[in-house]
Order: sequence, then C-alpha cells, then structure tokens
Amino acid sequence: MDHQGVVAELEVPHVLIFSFAAQGHVNPMLKLAELICLAGIHVTFVVTEHTQRRLLRNSNVQSRFDRYPGFHFEPISDGLPEDDPRSGQKVMDFFHAFGATAKPLLREMLVSHRRRLNGKKPVTCVIADGFLSFAIDVAEELGIPAISFRTSSTCNFWAYLCVDKLVEAGELPFDENNLDAPITSIPGMEHFLRCRDLPSFFRIKDVADRDFQLILNETQHSTRAQAQIFNTFEELEGPILSQTRSQCPKIYTIGPLHDHLKIRLNGTTIQTSSTSLWKEDASCMKWLDAQPFRSVIYVSFGSLTMVTKDKLIEFWYGLVNSGKRFLWVIRPDSVTSEDREGQISSELVEGTKERGYMVAWAPQEEVLAHQAIGGFITHSGWNSTLESIVSRVPMICLPSFGDQQINSRYVEEIWNLGLDMKDTWDRLIIEKMVKDLMDVRREEFMKSINQMAKFAKKAVSEGGLSYCNLDRLIEDIKLMSI
Ligand code: UDP
Repeated sequence: MDHQGVVAELEVPHVLIFSFAAQGHVNPMLKLAELICLAGIHVTFVVTEHTQRRLLRNSNVQSRFDRYPGFHFEPISDGLPEDDPRSGQKVMDFFHAFGATAKPLLREMLVSHRRRLNGKKPVTCVIADGFLSFAIDVAEELGIPAISFRTSSTCNFWAYLCVDKLVEAGELPFDENNLDAPITSIPGMEHFLRCRDLPSFFRIKDVADRDFQLILNETQHSTRAQAQIFNTFEELEGPILSQTRSQCPKIYTIGPLHDHLKIRLNGTTIQTSSTSLWKEDASCMKWLDAQPFRSVIYVSFGSLTMVTKDKLIEFWYGLVNSGKRFLWVIRPDSVTSEDREGQISSELVEGTKERGYMVAWAPQEEVLAHQAIGGFITHSGWNSTLESIVSRVPMICLPSFGDQQINSRYVEEIWNLGLDMKDTWDRLIIEKMVKDLMDVRREEFMKSINQMAKFAKKAVSEGGLSYCNLDRLIEDIKLMSI
C-alpha cells in the first residue's frame, strides 16, 4: 500500500464488537459486524477463545469474512480449562465468573490497539453485548464511546427496567403457586401479563437472588452506554419501544438483522452463511424436499435449553400422536445428564421413523424458509422468534428460561402468531396444539404472520425504519472517530 493508502486506512473508523459466548448472541452480533464491514468500517470481533474455535471449526465464517480486509477476530480467554464442557446448564455460572476474567483482558486489548501500529486506527467505538456491561466501563475509562447491543427482545429489557415498580407494587416476588395472577405495574403491559409470563429469572423467593440480581444489574448498567441497539422493528415492539425510550432516549432498532443483512447484500453475489457453533446436518434439507407443502412441523429448543428425559418423552408422545410429520433438532447435550440412561419405547421410535427426521443441529434459517415447513415448536428464543416471523411460520411456544417466557406471551396474546404452551409438558395438550396450529387455526395464524412478515420486510428495505436506523448508526460511528 502506498503512503496515501496507509493514511487513508488510518482515517477509517474502527469498531470493537464484543459478543457473549452463546449462539443466540454470536449470530446477531456477527450479522451486525458484517453490516458494519459493508459500510467500509474496520471491525475487531471479540468472543471467547473456546467459542471462536468452535465457530471456525463448524462454520464457513472465516472464508466469508476474508472478503473484508478490515475485519478480524480477536479471542479473549474465559479463564476455564479447555476440557471444561461449558454446557448449557452451566451458562449462569459462566456468566457470573466471566466479567472478572475478561474485564482486565479487554482493557489490555484496547490499550494495545493504541500502541500497535498495524495500519489501523485504534478502536474508536465499542459495541458491547448487553450481557457484558463491564465492557462499557472499560470503554468509558479509556474515553472510547460505547454502545450496548441487546440480543433479546425489548419487552424483556423493559420488564427488567421496571423491577422497582414491580417490587413497590408488591408484585415481586410472587406466589409460585399462583402463576396466573395478573401483573399490572409494568407500563405498556398492564392488561395481559401474568406472573408466569415474566422473564424466568423473576421466579424468585427473594429479590436478592443471585441470578436475578446479575441480570438486573447488567440491564440497568447497560443503560449507561451512549445508545442501545435492538434486534427488533418498530411494528413489532413499537409500544414497548416508546416506553423504553423514556429511560434510554437513543435507540437504534435495526432488525430483523438476518433479513436486513440479506437485503444489504442483494446486488452482490455474496450469500449469507452459517455462523453455527455446531456442525449443521444438511441432510434434513433433502428429507424436507421430499415432504408435501407446509406439512412438516419443525422442532427446536435453541442452543442452551436442556430438558429431563421424562419431559422429552411426554413431548415425543404428543408429537407422534398428532400424526403430523416433524423435523426435530435434538442437540447431544440437550437432555439433562442424570436422565440419559434408559429405553425409549418402540412405538415412539416407529412413529419417528414413519413421519419424522431428527438431527443434532440444523441450518435453521434455511429450514424455516423451506416450503415443506408449516409450523415451528420453539423455545421462543428471540432469534428463533424473528426467524419464524420472517419465514411466515406460525409457532407453538414452549419457553424454558430467560426472555422466552415474555416472548411467548407476546407471540400468542399480542401478535396472534401462534400458541403459548408454557409450563405444560402434557402429551394431550401437545397433540392438540400441534393439530390446532397445523389445521384448525391455521388460517387465522397465517393471516397475522403474513402481515407481520410484510412489516418486517418493509422495515429492513430501503427507506424502512430499520434500514434508516442502521444508516444513522453508521453515520454516528463515523462521527465518533473524528
Ligand atoms: N439454530 C440453528 N440450528 C439449530 C438450532 C438453532 O442454526 O438447530 C440457531 C437459530 O437459527 C438461532 C440461534 O441458533 O439463530 C438460537 O438463538 P435463539 O435466540 O433462538 O435461542 P438461544 O439458543 O439463545 O436460546
């Protein structure tokens, strides 16, 4: 590169994106990273060494990002030995310990970027995962502007911002034996929320509960960032976004990100790619090709949910008894370890062979977009919810933890995009809901999801709000580097 080229490179803004080490965070954060690269901005993507290794081993993400010379991965240690299983069950323990290890390492990394003369501007903006608020402190300390990126829903975020109101109203802690009691103290949700719909970490005996306090602190702390990014769109969460703006005036809604990226790549030959931490089993696509239009229900509980074997079998009976075809993702680590022994009854195995297909990990976005898919039994993770909306696939929600409880309430009660089965693992209910979703109430749900999918597409298309907000974000990042 000639002298002028070097000088020009040194003018380019440089964003450090720090993602929490879980699939549901890495996916949208890498999409955001690519969108920022497309605007010609340099990106350093930080995630734990362990996660980076899995990502590079199981996806084609490295070759994809090779197209962007200003992009590079920079791993950070999580302080755990390499052979630690870091399984879904341990995510909260991991979360508690991670900040202490990573905070000084991040500081060191940012300082060394300043010292290093590698032809790049030192980091001019930090985009920190909403779960990693310590990164905002480090950025602040070093005088670098920081933005927080929430990978979960805005309704979940808002519920955490209203914890004081809930406690004051005597609605938290609540009686675990009366989960249908109404919750009336969250502005914007007064008329439809029950105790069971609050984020799972609200199911506490005492507000001093360790996990509850951790997530509460993370949420409240992340509001100290200069701005918040949400992977959502105004037509989906408009009323709650208005409430949230009362406490966080600067919000960029830029979702659904996976579709937004596809739109921005349109006109180039680049296809979106996998960012999976597990090897995708593409054989299910061939199986889907052989199934009739909208005849298959797709089942996946995301990357972290674990179930006991009893629950799994109850669910399996409901699914097989519905008589519907199904494609089911069962991760090797999704059944709690103490329950792995024992026989699966032959009627279930036969029912699966006849009408079902099972994989350990699927190319989910592709699966949902396949014409054979007619419904989605989901744990209501936020990415899965958005992916289902974009692909016009109505849902049955079986939430497990985190924001899933509140997301599933919105899916059924506010958006009418499917059915909420939370707190139920009964084969008869499962069978009935599958039939309702796929046949009895199909038209009703298709009508609402088609409408919502249109709104989503409009939001990320040129002139749409998410599209304009991303442009605004890019401009603001450029201004920060002057
Ligand atoms: N996913 C996938 N293949 C699977 C299951 C899930 O690619 O077999 C992806 C899915 O498309 C989504 C992410 O993993 O982008 C899961 O994120 P989500 O927020 O739905 O749930 P989490 O795993 O964080 O609970």
